[in-house]
Amino acid sequence: MADKLTPQQRHICMSHIRGKNTKPELIVRRFLHASGYRFRIHVKRLPGTPDIVMRKYRTVIFVNGCFWHGHSDCSLYVLPKTNTQFWQDKITRNKERDEKTYSQLKKMGWHVIRLWECQLTSKNRQKHLDSLLYTLNHLMLINMGAKPIKAYSTDDEPMKYAAEE
Ligand SMILES: [Zn+2]
Repeated sequence: MADKLTPQQRHICMSHIRGKNTKPELIVRRFLHASGYRFRIHVKRLPGTPDIVMRKYRTVIFVNGCFWHGHSDCSLYVLPKTNTQFWQDKITRNKERDEKTYSQLKKMGWHVIRLWECQLTSKNRQKHLDSLLYTLNHLMLINMGAKPIKAYSTDDEPMKYAAEE
């Protein structure tokens, strides 16, 4: 076991990392920045105050904690054994609010990318960060009105766009 906390203790810890500038969020920001992308953070005038806003890509990114945002089938989303109903209701409300936020943003013409805390652990993060770059390039092609399927069909070609950014 990587840590010695009981699940209960872990949840108490997690309740403190709900806010902005969480570790997973910083990982994504550092990665994007190092990859040459520029963005704004915590843009309050957009629905849900997205963690990362890439105007050029018409894209917003949310880096979600698995517990607070109720990541289904995720080992980090385990309801506490006490006050279970309270937590269940709370997380359900959070999820509903998230869905509403995403659909508002989409209506405004934004692409919405959602990343999860569990995708950004040291073990998992590389593949998810790589696929984030793919997604961004894909979205850029869509924004430019290209045919992304075709342009996308060759192995790791899209990575070059990121390098040139
Ligand atoms: Zn998760």
